[in-house]
Amino acid sequence: MELKKVTVRTKCDNGACRNYAEYEVYRADTMPSGRLRLCRECLSAVKKLCLELERDERKLNKLKKETCNVGANLGSGAK
Ligand SMILES: [Zn+2]
Repeated sequence: MELKKVTVRTKCDNGACRNYAEYEVYRADTMPSGRLRLCRECLSAVKKLCLELERDERKLNKLKKETCNVGANLGSGAK
């Protein structure tokens, strides 16, 4: 994925947002008309959500491991 400054004056792709886009996010093979264009505020909000998701995924993975360990302990204890 690429993240670049937009070179054309266009509205932010977040429908409710009235700002002009400052950045565009796209795969290398995406046509310019299909790129996600966001203002600085919306890009920051997306970044924050991604960090939260990543943190939650780590938390979830940690819980899964703990749950597996508990299950393994219970299994070996029952034998
Ligand atoms: Zn925006």
